[in-house]
Amino acid sequence: MVTKDKVFVTSPSMPSYDEYIQMIKKIWINKMMTNGGELHNELERKLSDYLGVDSLALTSNGHSALEIALQSMELKGEVITTPFTFVSTTHAVVRSGLKPIFCDIKKSDYTIDENLIENLVTENTCAILPVHVFGNVCDVESIERIARKYSLKVIYDAAHSFGERIYGSSVLNFGDASAISFHATKVFNTVEGGAICTRDENLYNIMVQYRNFGIQDAENVSHIGTNAKMSEFHAAMGLCNLRHYEHERKKRKKIAEIYLECLDGIRGIKIPCYKEEITYNYAYFPIVIDKSIYGYSRDDVFEWLSKENVFCRKYFYPLTNSLECYGKDLSEQTPIAKEIANSILCLPLYADLDENSVMCICEVIRKRK
Ligand SMILES: *Cc1c(COP(=O)(O)O)cnc(C)c1O
Repeated sequence: MVTKDKVFVTSPSMPSYDEYIQMIKKIWINKMMTNGGELHNELERKLSDYLGVDSLALTSNGHSALEIALQSMELKGEVITTPFTFVSTTHAVVRSGLKPIFCDIKKSDYTIDENLIENLVTENTCAILPVHVFGNVCDVESIERIARKYSLKVIYDAAHSFGERIYGSSVLNFGDASAISFHATKVFNTVEGGAICTRDENLYNIMVQYRNFGIQDAENVSHIGTNAKMSEFHAAMGLCNLRHYEHERKKRKKIAEIYLECLDGIRGIKIPCYKEEITYNYAYFPIVIDKSIYGYSRDDVFEWLSKENVFCRKYFYPLTNSLECYGKDLSEQTPIAKEIANSILCLPLYADLDENSVMCICEVIRKRK
């Protein structure tokens, strides 16, 4: 018996009830609930500072941030992307009238394989949309080199990269734009929410119009935009959660370290390998189970843990290039992604997960060997 209470892969970070109530009092004083209110603007400023980016525009969610990034660049044609991601990434491409071209991933960290990108470039390619999956930073330098060579835009899906730094600078500063998610299940949340970051001031101004129907001013609508504004109530949650973020990150880091220690050396179980130069947010703890060595499959481990009240997630399975909504199953074209999708399991990881549960989860995995 691992735990009496159910343990899920994540549990949302929330401030105390009183802290939130205190924060939303301002909304009644200002009588402004959305459209760039005081709390919204304060959160934009504080996040830009905290994350170390020049300009950041809050959005209603991470998905709308991706769509706005793609649409405000007025792209046409093909976008080279990864199938090893949440369905939002691929939907954003297709919903923007673009064609996803799926590139395989690397076995080492599950990000797009930069060595395969050039083979997929055609005269119709307009952009690359890589994902810093599980907070693993893509090979941003190689991707930039390819983008320059073929004049392609680069938009990063940075939904998993809140607060991450590489050699001390924000991972959100790469490419033409990065989209980030503040969904309830992410390490920093505004209930629902997200943001786009870009260093291109002109693009930033267009994106800000895009999230508000493309409205330029009272009498001019310059773009066919959408409604992706963040409300004051969501911003209030963000302002409260930001106060506790560092503390929560330290707690998640400790949990990740216990996993690393307890799962180390189990043959056939691959654990994350953290790079020295990256400051991680410890959002996820994916393990890859090699059945030919470990003796049991990912689905076996998933079932054993479910019986012990521990509910992991098979992230990311299925691959987005196998989904029926896009028609044909293209997953054979990305064999590494397919292999990883069939053998990966994300173990529970959140700030308030107790250490005892972590050790029990590891024990379940270890004792079968
Ligand atoms: C969560 C997530 C999104 C979408 O963010 P929402 O805020 O839920 O709309 C996009 N891409 C990835 C990789 C995600 O994990």
